[in-house]
Amino acid sequence: MPFVQHGDRFCSWYTSDPADQIPVTPDWWGPPQESGWPHLGECRACHERGAVYEVPPLAVDVREQAAAFARWLREAISDRASRREDPAFVGHRADADVALMGWHGPTELIVMDGRGGAPERVLRCRECKSASYPCRTLRMVAAPYRFGSPGHREEWL
Ligand SMILES: [Zn+2]
Ligand SMILES: [Zn+2]
Repeated sequence: MPFVQHGDRFCSWYTSDPADQIPVTPDWWGPPQESGWPHLGECRACHERGAVYEVPPLAVDVREQAAAFARWLREAISDRASRREDPAFVGHRADADVALMGWHGPTELIVMDGRGGAPERVLRCRECKSASYPCRTLRMVAAPYRFGSPGHREEWL
């Protein structure tokens, strides 16, 4: 969804037409703008002048946290599955947990605070949408593995 910045106020502008996503109308009398989208013009949401706002990328540490969690859990599951005790149960448990990891994988969303603040990029659970990653379901999946696999972090509880 495209955004327009007016000082410290932000507008979002949405249309279902994929060929019509430019959120500002450039001034017909203005200087030619660089290729791609025009960056300045009249906001199509509020009709004031504004600049197209690019939402900054996801914070590096958020992405790293998520990657560390997924890596740890994947290793813990496969380590558990390779042990010999009760292989049928452990095998099915491991398959189920790997499937849950897929369904509840991370996805990037852009959210607005509803008060005109800057839109922000966040990492959410693909399935639970409103939850952060790892979500409650995935934390529950991970919890029993922490006894057998070192490296579990307190913030994943
Ligand atoms: Zn606007
Ligand atoms: Zn979830």
